[in-house]
Amino acid sequence: MQVPAQVEYERATSVAHALALLTRYGPEARILAGGHSLIPMMKLRLAQPETLIDINGLAELSYIRVADGELQIGALTRHAELLDSALAGEHFAILHDAERVIADPVVRNWGTIGGSLCQADPSEDLSATFAALKAIMVICHPDGSRTVSARDFHTGPYETVVAPAELLTEIRIPIRAGGGSAYKKVGRRVGDWPVGAAGAAVWLAGDTISDAGIGLTAVGAQHFAATEAEEFLRGAPASEESFARAGEIAAVHCRPSSDQRGPADYKRHLASELTTRALRRALRRARGEGA
Ligand SMILES: Cc1cc2nc3c(=O)[nH]c(=O)nc-3n(C[C@H](O)[C@H](O)[C@H](O)COP(=O)(O)OP(=O)(O)OC[C@H]3O[C@@H](n4cnc5c(N)ncnc54)[C@H](O)[C@@H]3O)c2cc1C
Repeated sequence: MQVPAQVEYERATSVAHALALLTRYGPEARILAGGHSLIPMMKLRLAQPETLIDINGLAELSYIRVADGELQIGALTRHAELLDSALAGEHFAILHDAERVIADPVVRNWGTIGGSLCQADPSEDLSATFAALKAIMVICHPDGSRTVSARDFHTGPYETVVAPAELLTEIRIPIRAGGGSAYKKVGRRVGDWPVGAAGAAVWLAGDTISDAGIGLTAVGAQHFAATEAEEFLRGAPASEESFARAGEIAAVHCRPSSDQRGPADYKRHLASELTTRALRRALRRARGEGA
């Protein structure tokens, strides 16, 4: 039987209270959101926090809204809420594409957006999704808050820029005209982690790509992004040829490793093919040509 080690438990009543508790208990304290990643790690003794600070009562961190020209998502929003949000889907269809293929309904009902991002698993789907959308993370600390680009949020596998006394509170996605987005994933079975996945966002000026975002996960892409392929697309015609070339560039610059999910060359192939397919679908959506 797997049993976590002895741990203290505190229930935060507000963001300010959570921050005060983090400061009081120091670096051995951990935030408990949905617990879908943290509790299994504690059972395996891969994580042994001294104190859990439960933020599940913080309704102020659970919302999806449009304000200041951005889609704003509270860190405690559950996967299922994002999947159900018509507002999120209307602006960024990629969010629904990704949520539909993350885990299963049990995990999605309680797992949170903030918990997924802070867990920083190198195969995590939303990290690639928010990288493609060029999202901004809001991190609160006892003296105020700071913002960090999604691409600067992860510092390595299972590591982020969130310091021990800080809390991720919100994800912001700028809403820009002429855009479309999509996510494509290959997993070994329904509800499984990706063997490889790609998210794409394109913004058009007529038939030209004015800007593009490409996120990759599980294939060793730096910062979950394919920046060289994005650069190639900027100013290029929105065509099948451009997307195929962008896929090739994305594949060249990622560094997949062979593991139980598949060999590295297969993952590299997926990086190329899924990038091209996600771009194709994002373009259709940008042109209003359906889902
Ligand atoms: C069976 C299963 C299948 C899964 N399949 C997939 C999949 O296909 N794709 C995928 O992307 N994911 C998958 N996951 C991962 C799942 O999405 C995450 O486990 C879950 O969403 C993490 O969120 P949580 O709220 O449970 O985080 P928790 O487990 O509560 O926390 C995770 C970490 O983040 C920290 N943390 C949480 N919230 C904050 C915050 N606001 N600020 C600072 N630190 C914070 C915690 O201290 C902890 O270190 C799967 C998980 C399971 C169990």
